Amino acid sequence: DLKSYHVFVVMGASGDLAKKKIYPTLWWLYRDNLLPKKTFFLGYARSKLDIKDFLTQKCRQYMKVKPDEEEKFNEWVSKNHYLAGSYDQSESFAQLNSKIVEISRFYEPETDDANRIFYLALPPSVYTSVTQLLSENCKAKKPHFTRVIVEKPFGKDSKSSSELSTHLSKLFTEEQIYRIDHYLGKEMVQNLIVLRFANQIFKRIWNRDSIENVSITFKEPFGTQGRGGYFDEFGIIRDVMQNHLLQILSLVAMESPISKNAEEIRNEKVKVLRSIPEIKLEDVVLGQYVGNPNGQGDEKMGYLDDPTVPAGSNTPTFCCAILKIKNERWDGVPFILKSGKALNERKAEIRIQFKEVSGDIFDNSCARNELVIRVQPDEAVYMKISTKKPGINFNPLETELDLTYKHRYDGEYMPDAYERLILDVFLGSQLNFVRTDELAEAWRIFTPLLHKLEKENIKPIPYVYGSRGLPEADELCAKVGKYTYNKNYKWKDSSKS
Ligand code: NAP
Ligand code: NAP
Repeated sequence: DLKSYHVFVVMGASGDLAKKKIYPTLWWLYRDNLLPKKTFFLGYARSKLDIKDFLTQKCRQYMKVKPDEEEKFNEWVSKNHYLAGSYDQSESFAQLNSKIVEISRFYEPETDDANRIFYLALPPSVYTSVTQLLSENCKAKKPHFTRVIVEKPFGKDSKSSSELSTHLSKLFTEEQIYRIDHYLGKEMVQNLIVLRFANQIFKRIWNRDSIENVSITFKEPFGTQGRGGYFDEFGIIRDVMQNHLLQILSLVAMESPISKNAEEIRNEKVKVLRSIPEIKLEDVVLGQYVGNPNGQGDEKMGYLDDPTVPAGSNTPTFCCAILKIKNERWDGVPFILKSGKALNERKAEIRIQFKEVSGDIFDNSCARNELVIRVQPDEAVYMKISTKKPGINFNPLETELDLTYKHRYDGEYMPDAYERLILDVFLGSQLNFVRTDELAEAWRIFTPLLHKLEKENIKPIPYVYGSRGLPEADELCAKVGKYTYNKNYKWKDSSKS
């Protein structure tokens, strides 16, 4: 119902996420006329702040306001309201409720209520009381909707996550809960469903008969940058693998859904996760970065040199894990998940490596085909194939069929992940949000490993800041992951020729 009033409430409006991500995203959606016309924005936190000053002074640097958008920006700012209140007192939430009604009645006094979206941009310590009090005081009158956006971390293991889920499910229905995993808002992650199910050529080969292994990789070229205190509580497995990489894996590996309906797709994602056994320690290589004495600035700093990291911490900053899927499609195909901080490059990609060329007539010189979907940066889909080496010879040469987005779709507007996801919440589309049962399965796969690491205080292997990864991880990928690296391939960027 896009004709109704909508009030978007940012809980924790004074915080980092609100300032850098949520408010800028709301502005872009408003700027592009994507939101329902009668939408208002209400910030809520304990700090007493002037929302107009906050938006124009603190947030504006993240908003990319162009000179000719000044008027529209001011118009958007004028639609923003603010209320200061506590996170644990009923009266504050009663006031919040009155404020929402007041905003929706300001322009049309006879308006009964508004659709309400609450974005919880708050530390997990206040989640329980805030959701409880929102549910008791701030639900919209029917037929208006109430939707709650929840940010990670969704617990720390199966038990804590299930407690949080149980708590939420007592207060809100599944249709009202939107758990954000911002990877699901990325263009190339959303593209997976289209690539897989809109191309006949892929459908028939997307299985154990043709695919040797699948890698899903996340690399970051910087360390904790002095904010390791937060990271240390979680580590790379919880920060990146259990959520983002596993979400990608489920899209790569799921069976074809009956339709593109959110529930049908999420049903398939849960099903494939249910086919994944718990990860064992022997299928994992863990690392922690140390400073590079020859590096510049931050590169000299190891993880343990970050003053906010507890001395002697064994928290991994790199992990390579091999997952297996015990179903008809994937039995025997290793899924390699790799993630790490302070590595040689920034990259998130999915790499499908196909089997050896059977009956190779070229003296076993054919490289394996690889389909690479690069999520970031420089979105691309490329297929590594063999062609005849140009010239007077008859040898295969590894090259690529290349769909580089910035060349093919030059000038096309690519919305940020948060833009797509927040818009989805307005539209009531839950496709790109994590359902309760999906989350429980994701924790089931990783919890025994996480507990073992913590209980036995298992030491990660040191690696130097800026390295490609760990040789031990390459060995695991080759041995258990069955990955073959071909060092002869050289990419020529055609845009530079
Ligand atoms: P934050 O800045 O630390 O906290 C948001 C607001 O919550 C603060 O402005 C503060 O507002 C209130 N707050 C902070 N600590 C509190 C405490 N101990 N008790 C009660 N209130 C407290 O957090 P954030 O970085 O915006 O992140 C919000 C949520 O998003 C977290 O769950 C985080 O894990 C998640 N997240 C953040 C990012 C990011 O880029 N920052 C990325 C992904 C997920 P008042 O004092 O004014 O009430
Ligand atoms: P690559 O960067 O060479 O990596 C291929 C795979 O091999 C990755 O899984 C990598 O692991 C692994 N690997 C790299 N060095 C290894 C080693 N010494 N031992 C064992 N494993 C190793 O990727 P590529 O697809 O062959 O492409 C080469 C370059 O061309 C890349 O920079 C790529 O971005 C570029 N390229 C770009 C486009 C485009 O933009 N359209 C198209 C084709 C190629 P890690 O990921 O863990 O490092």
